[in-house]
Amino acid sequence: MSGLEDLPPLRDTLAAHDLLAKKSFGQHFLLDLNITRKIARLAEVGPGDRVIEVGPGPGGLTRALLETGAVVTAVEMDPRFEPLLNELAAAADGRLSLVIADALTVDETILAQGGPAAIVSNLPYNVGTPLLIKWLTGAFTPTSMTLMFQKEVAERIVAPPGSDAYGRLAVIAQACAEVRLVMDAPARAFTPPPKVDSAVVRLKPRADRPAPALLTALQTVTQAAFGQRRKMLRSSLKVLGGEALCVVAGLAPDVRAETIGVEGFLALASALIARRGD
Ligand code: SAM
Repeated sequence: MSGLEDLPPLRDTLAAHDLLAKKSFGQHFLLDLNITRKIARLAEVGPGDRVIEVGPGPGGLTRALLETGAVVTAVEMDPRFEPLLNELAAAADGRLSLVIADALTVDETILAQGGPAAIVSNLPYNVGTPLLIKWLTGAFTPTSMTLMFQKEVAERIVAPPGSDAYGRLAVIAQACAEVRLVMDAPARAFTPPPKVDSAVVRLKPRADRPAPALLTALQTVTQAAFGQRRKMLRSSLKVLGGEALCVVAGLAPDVRAETIGVEGFLALASALIARRGD
């Protein structure tokens, strides 16, 4: 039986299956195993660890994850890749299972068979942010996430208060997880190359992740505050309580959203819950 080391180069595998990238599925492939192995290292997964990989496509990242000894459940929406990925599964000693489905609607708890799992993905650009929000705020909490995004989205996830990229995504991501930009990937690393550069973000969910009600309130206050980011909080949050809400949260009503840290937004979210409970 052939093992992972006997597999042909990814380009040959794609050609043998006559597969071309489809734009509608956000397909930009990593065919250089040096790059996919680096991502697998950054994911810090090892023998026996369960990994959910979204969008395996031709399987370059999947191969690198399998090489670490991890047990991989791969969720791919494009059924054209099924035969190719089945060949990879045959070379992986039963450590790769494939699910043909939309990652936005799958239940990760079932994929992880009720146990812990890390999520690793070179994400399709069109659904990267909604998938991240699902994994940060949904019922299933991954042990870690190692995710390739468009560089601009990666920067918005890790942005500190006061920076141009700071906004809703930074607040929600940083309230739920420790976040780090761990690798840059120029557009030329992909086949076909996208129009923009990419970057890998590693997210480690916090043990004290906000409870669902607080997260919902956090989404409400950040939407209002950053919807009018140049206005003072007293006016951008007017419909939610304006100045009174700021006072309860211990924030000055004349500051702007972009200067408030995650703790400040969590205080505003708690104040909103208290106000609605009155
Ligand atoms: N992991 C491969 C690599 O690094 O070469 C492919 C990455 S490509 C950027 C994104 C992959 O996600 C494609 O294979 C695409 O078909 C798949 N995909 C797109 N939307 C998806 C969705 N909603 N659910 C699952 N897979 C999806």
